[in-house]
Amino acid sequence: MAGRVAAVTDRSLSEYGAEVAGCVRCPLSETRTQVVFGSGSPSAELMFVGEAPGFHEDKQGVPFVGAAGKLLSKLLEGIGISREEVYVCNVIKCRPPGNRNPLPEEIEACEGHLFRQIELIQPALVATLGNFATKLLSGKQAGITQVHGRVQDVVLGGRPVRLYPIFHPAAALYTPRMLQVLEEDFSRLPELLGHTQVAEARVEPVRPATEPAVQLGLF
Ligand code: URA
Repeated sequence: MAGRVAAVTDRSLSEYGAEVAGCVRCPLSETRTQVVFGSGSPSAELMFVGEAPGFHEDKQGVPFVGAAGKLLSKLLEGIGISREEVYVCNVIKCRPPGNRNPLPEEIEACEGHLFRQIELIQPALVATLGNFATKLLSGKQAGITQVHGRVQDVVLGGRPVRLYPIFHPAAALYTPRMLQVLEEDFSRLPELLGHTQVAEARVEPVRPATEPAVQLGLF
């Protein structure tokens, strides 16, 4: 994914991240350890949007570092793409207590941050992981089971972007047969990016990380 000029975007994205670090747009600012803005290349062609930071993300300030994140990294490795080449973030930037689902008012308060990230990064392809990101960025209510693996052409940040809904990696941690569906959907990413398809690779299941008893689910 070489050949894109990063300098200006890099500075403005990190400047925006510094601004968002103090965000108090919703009450999650009172319970978070820190804002989890995003990580990866500021000039990525491919951007992943998940749901919300979990326990580990909240502690480390980096998205997708827990069990679901490890699976995301493996799925990417399987198609010859590294985490450093892509950009990864979430619909909401602060951990909901106990990893509950984000509330509509939290999504509404936070969505401007995601739209601004998309504007600054200008990705060609945005892979939405699960229902929350898919519904927000497609502007439609169709669920992930219905729409995964099919490209939708949308306008985001004033630019045409290809949206590619995928199941959330956490789905394969709960339901191991989902791993194959995820692998199949990931296997189309190189072609969608105009890259040469790599040989089909299988991914070993990721064991959920040991987490404190208060941690709900596998985020
Ligand atoms: N970790 C994240 O950063 N986002 C998710 O959606 C799940 C786990």
